Amino acid sequence: MKKKRALITGISGQDGAYLARFLLDKNYTVVGGERQNASGSLWRLKELGIEKKVKIVPFELLEENNISEVVRMGKFDEIYNLAAQSFVGNSYNTPVFTSNVNALGLSRILEAIRHSSKDTKLYQASTSEMYGNAKSKKQNESTPFQPVSPYAVSKLYGHWMINLYREAYDLFCCSGILFNHESPLRGKEFVTKKIITDLARVRYNALSHLSLGNIYSKRDWGYAEDYVEAMWLMLQQRKADDFVISSGKTYTVKDFINIAAKYYGFDLKWQGKGFSEKAIDKKTNKIIIKIDKKYFRPTEVNYLYGDSSKARKILNWSPKTNINELIKKMCDYELEKYK
Ligand code: NAP
Ligand code: GDP
Repeated sequence: MKKKRALITGISGQDGAYLARFLLDKNYTVVGGERQNASGSLWRLKELGIEKKVKIVPFELLEENNISEVVRMGKFDEIYNLAAQSFVGNSYNTPVFTSNVNALGLSRILEAIRHSSKDTKLYQASTSEMYGNAKSKKQNESTPFQPVSPYAVSKLYGHWMINLYREAYDLFCCSGILFNHESPLRGKEFVTKKIITDLARVRYNALSHLSLGNIYSKRDWGYAEDYVEAMWLMLQQRKADDFVISSGKTYTVKDFINIAAKYYGFDLKWQGKGFSEKAIDKKTNKIIIKIDKKYFRPTEVNYLYGDSSKARKILNWSPKTNINELIKKMCDYELEKYK
């Protein structure tokens, strides 16, 4: 059988690396888009031992000519658009850039497919951030969106463009509304990875304490490797559609800290309120965590809790890794460095 060809934009990111490995295991030819002004670091691919198995092409979401050429020449069966300015915190400082990359970047891909590669199936990385502070207890595909950050607004544009191109031009394109997913390969700017790396540094006396912002927001955290399977499943269906992918559990940032701290051997006691709240290790009486207002955002998504029953039913997908297993994987990866 002819090998399928896939393009992964943002292959140097967390999901790009796991998806590349997943597709290679399925015998795909994997082409990875890497932006030209990038650090040149494909460390995640190296970490997974696949850097020599993928073909890297220059790919810049801001550059229309580059995108149309890659799409036209590539003759891809599937494109996974994972490239993005993906950090909510940054998007407040770079709203124009974030929109250009995340929103118009997707438009550039859609136009390239429409004009030169109509049979290519497209996966778009949408996000639970689009729900913002939705009123419903759980969020699914019918929950109204109320984005509250430049990042979320830029991704919502992409979500609706996917719907539009599906309807107007009959393209096979899907929007995966993925809730937060983490792994040892998660970027350091995200709260889970920050907690796991900095707690390890505190544990090994490389850092005095860890500073965080809002520890009461709730997230539905899953494991990235489980979630890339859902991306692929969406493109294997007869009909293109949008799906929520989530763990179906929700925890506060503080819960996440408590589980990770316990795994590292801390015995935390919390004291104080608001900006004065702190966590002290009962064994040593040392302050381990402080709250710093610089990490608070101008607007916050307080609560995310996904309902992925549609994906469970139609894609036959379900998450395999719970939060304790996820945190264990992340902590063990970090501890390896100190051995
Ligand atoms: P990530 O680790 O931040 O990776 C983002 C990727 O996009 C990197 O490879 C980055 O390249 C690339 N990129 C950034 N700007 C670009 C540009 N202008 N042109 C081309 N490439 C560019 O993100 P992730 O966690 O893997 O997430 C993958 C996708 O899913 C993103 O679109 C994200 O917004 C979305 N998403 C993620 C989550 C989550 O919890 N992880 C949840 C929902 C949705 P460099 O290496 O050069 O920076
Ligand atoms: P997000 O859900 O995509 O914004 O993922 P993040 O991991 O960046 O943030 C998750 C939650 O952790 C948000 O509610 C943040 O406000 C909160 N948070 C608290 N302290 C921090 C911090 O120091 N860094 C980050 N990134 N988030 C923090």
